[in-house]
Amino acid sequence: AHAETAVHQAKSKGRDQFSVYRRIMTAQVISEFKLEQQLRRGIQSNEIECWLQSKVDDNGNVISAEALARWRHRGKIISPDSFIPLAERLGLINDIGEIIAGYVACCIREARKRIPNFQIAMNVSPRQFMHEDFVTKLCLAFSQEQAPLAGLVIEITENLLIHDIDEVNAIMEQLAAKGVQFSVDDFGTGYSNLKRLQWIPVSELKIDRQFVENGMDGGRGQALLDTIIMMSQSLGMTTVVEGVETQDQFEHLKNKGITQFQGYLFHRPEPMSTWLEALH
Ligand code: C2E
Ligand code: CA
Ligand code: CA
Ligand code: CA
Repeated sequence: AHAETAVHQAKSKGRDQFSVYRRIMTAQVISEFKLEQQLRRGIQSNEIECWLQSKVDDNGNVISAEALARWRHRGKIISPDSFIPLAERLGLINDIGEIIAGYVACCIREARKRIPNFQIAMNVSPRQFMHEDFVTKLCLAFSQEQAPLAGLVIEITENLLIHDIDEVNAIMEQLAAKGVQFSVDDFGTGYSNLKRLQWIPVSELKIDRQFVENGMDGGRGQALLDTIIMMSQSLGMTTVVEGVETQDQFEHLKNKGITQFQGYLFHRPEPMSTWLEALH
């Protein structure tokens, strides 16, 4: 009888937990469904914005910029970390990419009126990059804006390199022939086969901010940062360090031979219109 009660208790406890779990699941599904509708509507009604963060040289002068997507929803600015993954799951990332490409093309055209040869970088996730219409839509956006593709840098991530490398390379070569340059974002954080870097036309590596955060500890964090910088430099790549927040970090990086920087110490991301005004 004792055992039976125990079994009964365990069962009902399990059922309770299951129903709690189901309630939480339902709440999540509902809110994701609502969010999905809102994002679809937001894309249609121009709520996706393009912000820009300048990159600087070792004197702090602006040399280029990175485009960063924002979602202006119900008066709030939503960060890409919360809507890009959702857009990826829903297959909406290509629509967002097209919107950003249009803004970036426009920005390149306008910036080049002030600074010849100015380049702007755009983030492209693997799913976007491998989409069959990617090259066509990108080129279309640039021709519509009458902007030169030579002003575009595409930031890919190491995770792109796990796809069929011949296919990836074919797409890159096609764009490189039109003057597009490539940068590997978040370098050192992915799972890529590093030797694949030598087969694709990449000219720049961006060292992720997590290495900079721990890069001044005088211990392993610093050894790691310095090693990753050395690796990038010996591969003959332009090395950009992102997430530079303090003067100490800046000095240390300059001593390591870094010449391109991005971070709150210099400039924060700002709306496209504000950024363009500041350039003029
Ligand atoms: P990311 O490409 O690594 O971009 C750099 C992120 O670091 C940006 O966050 C930027 O605002 C932030 N950041 C820059 N300097 C500093 C600093 O000194 N300190 C700190 N703490 N952060 C700094 P953001 O704008 O929130 O973007 C997050 C990520 O969303 C991006 O990371 C990128 O992976 C993705 N993303 C943004 N826009 C797009 C887009 O148009 N398409 C795709 N596929 N992904 C995008
Ligand atoms: Ca980036
Ligand atoms: Ca990055
Ligand atoms: Ca990142």
